[in-house]
Amino acid sequence: MKNAAIIERSMQHVWHPCTQMKRHESLPLVPIARAEGVWLYDYEGRRYLDGVSSWWVNLFGHGHPHIKAALVAQLDQLDHVMLAGFTHEPVVKLSEKLGQLTGLGHAFYASDGASATEIALKMSAHYWRNTGRPEKCRFVGLAGGYHGETVGALAVTDIALFREAYAPLVRLAAIVPSPDARAAQPGESAADTATRAADALEVWLQQHHASTAALIIEPLVQCAAGMAMHDASYLRRARALCSRYDVHLVVDEIATGFGRTGTMFAHQQAGIRPDFICLSKGLTGGTLPLSAVLTTDTVYRAFYDDDTARGFLHSHSYTGNPLACRAALATLELFEQQDVLARNETLARTLTAAFAPLTAHARIKNARQLGMIWAWDVATDLPDFPSRFHQHAMAHGVLLRPIGNTIYAMPPYVMNEETAQHLARGALAALNATLADTPESTDGRR
Ligand SMILES: *Cc1c(COP(=O)(O)O)cnc(C)c1O
Repeated sequence: MKNAAIIERSMQHVWHPCTQMKRHESLPLVPIARAEGVWLYDYEGRRYLDGVSSWWVNLFGHGHPHIKAALVAQLDQLDHVMLAGFTHEPVVKLSEKLGQLTGLGHAFYASDGASATEIALKMSAHYWRNTGRPEKCRFVGLAGGYHGETVGALAVTDIALFREAYAPLVRLAAIVPSPDARAAQPGESAADTATRAADALEVWLQQHHASTAALIIEPLVQCAAGMAMHDASYLRRARALCSRYDVHLVVDEIATGFGRTGTMFAHQQAGIRPDFICLSKGLTGGTLPLSAVLTTDTVYRAFYDDDTARGFLHSHSYTGNPLACRAALATLELFEQQDVLARNETLARTLTAAFAPLTAHARIKNARQLGMIWAWDVATDLPDFPSRFHQHAMAHGVLLRPIGNTIYAMPPYVMNEETAQHLARGALAALNATLADTPESTDGRR
């Protein structure tokens, strides 16, 4: 099969996510036939380095033999069974391991990040109801926060473009200032900016804690906001304030979890213990959809009762799917077998060095890095900068999709010197080609 044929059929019958479909009249879909390691291959043999880990889900490259073998073995054993009234070894083992890794020993499962957000919000509000404080049913989140796009999750997702059309459907959460280090005033450090944002949170909680169930935050990096990074001190202040005002702290580690920020989970860099952790994306190494919400004994016990209605009556058909749980276990085994976090530290230095010419580019501002995430803001008024850059990057064999004027890289953990150079050279070449585009030129849009 050729690229053009599959593109044509996709345009006829597939409705693609997060996309104005008409755009694909001028900007063709990229059909991917297979993937291996950091490479995606189209139907005509062209390859692209997966610089965004396929929307932040892939950790150890595509088709990792260990995860593949575990999935095949699991398929021979048990494909799926409902988790209400039933249990199985993959879900038990995974829950034990996640408990050990996070200190939160009760795991509830779904299949995507937005559902994990909704589960955490529902559990939090239901906890307060079960403990005699039903008025604590509102939520607070950070400016620019992203927690998924279902109607419930949109309540705490502060991205206007994603929310506007559905405003009448959404019960909006309150939004407090982001500790984004880029908001620093002259002379201010990242820690000062975090303190200013934490002060605003404190003022808000003083006034509204009685009606607030939980604060939800993306720890250290607000990824969808354009890799907005903040100082860990914000998380310590947020934890202390939530404890003082009896408000749950939900950390959404869907993008930041599993080593992405340098530690297994981002909130661990602040030395805090949240009340809920949302996980997904890298949980299965990028192979199968799975999400989990972890919580404390205190929350769990508030639901444990003779009364059915005090239980957490939430489910998805595929809750705790054995194949997905087995893929997650194989992923965690890779972290145990290899010293992934230490190896990533070395790898990150290689990538940072490779990116040096891009970082030094005259049009780049706010170059930043944490763990295996790099981001650069581009000074440009070019309309369609993200799609133009994306097209030029693809022409250089690199998959990168800027968010607004922010270029970022979030590659799998199996890069090396050679692929780092390919990625960095492709990014720089794409930037120069994009900046050489005139607003009217269409070659950037193929
Ligand atoms: C991607 C993401 C989500 C949503 O996950 P989906 O699986 O896309 O629903 C939620 N929170 C954060 C921080 C994310 O990055």
